[in-house]
Amino acid sequence: MSALLQVDKVSKNFGGFAALTEVSFELAQGERFGIIGPNGSGKTTLMNCIGGALYGDGGSIRFNGADITRVPAWRRARLGIARSFQVPRPFASLTVLDNVNVAIEYAASHPHRAKQMRDLAAAILKRMHLAAKVGVPAGSLTQVELRKLELARALATQPRVLILDEVMAGLSAAEVDEMLEIIMDINTQGVTIIMIEHIMRAIMRFSSRVICLDAGTIVAEGVPETIVADESVRRIYLGA
Ligand code: ADP
Ligand code: MG
Repeated sequence: MSALLQVDKVSKNFGGFAALTEVSFELAQGERFGIIGPNGSGKTTLMNCIGGALYGDGGSIRFNGADITRVPAWRRARLGIARSFQVPRPFASLTVLDNVNVAIEYAASHPHRAKQMRDLAAAILKRMHLAAKVGVPAGSLTQVELRKLELARALATQPRVLILDEVMAGLSAAEVDEMLEIIMDINTQGVTIIMIEHIMRAIMRFSSRVICLDAGTIVAEGVPETIVADESVRRIYLGA
């Protein structure tokens, strides 16, 4: 049995600076995979290499058995890899609904019929608790609503793997709980999830497995209980 995603010795340099050095891990279908690590440790760069926004300088990435190391981002989206961006960037003047429709069109390998598209967009926005906001311009949403729209746009591509890069930063405890509930529900529907997060309570509750990056390498990997007790994680990340 092969893994859904296989990251094998991926490296990435910016000029002379090694942002990632031979990072390897595998993801099974349906996993909830957490990534922690201090600022600048390479988390976003790693996700850029998986999503195709960046190509690594070394190593390989396989998705669903196929080598995607040199496959462009738009094609990876169609294969089923979706990501949120650390800074949400919807089209502010478009309505919430149209923002989702644009995302549906972007990832569609064939044009959707109008009714199909309406049904899909409505179902996604309901799952994101945004049904009441469909006609509102995205520019007038609150921060937590923007995060939900960002999730909705990623889901509109009907992904098999969803990458969430700090989607809960700046939210209140109650908002974090609501987002967690939504993300858990997405996972239950069969979507494999990679979550980068600084909010330890959220990552520990969410993840079935966690890796910790430091200076571009994986320094710890395991179930949440193992990770919180790990010496190097405590020293590097928790400051203990
Ligand atoms: P994290 O998401 O863990 O905070 P990043 O992956 O964003 O870390 O960044 C890892 C390191 O690579 C940082 O030192 C950052 O400054 C550097 N870096 C990221 N992107 C670029 C880029 N496009 N050009 C040059 N350096 C970059
Ligand atoms: Mg980052």
